[in-house]
Amino acid sequence: MSQNQTAMTWTPERIEALINLWKGGVLTPEIARRLCEITPEAGPVSKGAVIGKRARLGLPERVATRPKAPQRNVLDLDGARCMFPIGHPSETDFHFCGDVLEEGKHYCAKHWAQTHEKRSSPKYGQYAIR
Ligand SMILES: [Zn+2]
Repeated sequence: MSQNQTAMTWTPERIEALINLWKGGVLTPEIARRLCEITPEAGPVSKGAVIGKRARLGLPERVATRPKAPQRNVLDLDGARCMFPIGHPSETDFHFCGDVLEEGKHYCAKHWAQTHEKRSSPKYGQYAIR
């Protein structure tokens, strides 16, 4: 298909299918493909057409359903600070150190030294909680 702007029609079937597929979490290109299939005579459906129609119908944005790689948690949000945990997570005054990082390290100089006193190579995500 090399036509740039072919007329397409949003038939009632297509709109209904769009809504159902969208709610079912089907990916946009796949929705476009299926809409073409159900009513090929109404013209080709592009991914952009699906996105535009979805917006006009007021269907809510979807969050990607694909499972995300596990995030390392809040510690990565601000990578420029020492995130050594102070206190215990169950305590109300629990917080992270917040000190300036030792260059190339995940902790400030003090906590980096502290984690290295116990083990020669602490794994990320493992914190010594006192
Ligand atoms: Zn620290």
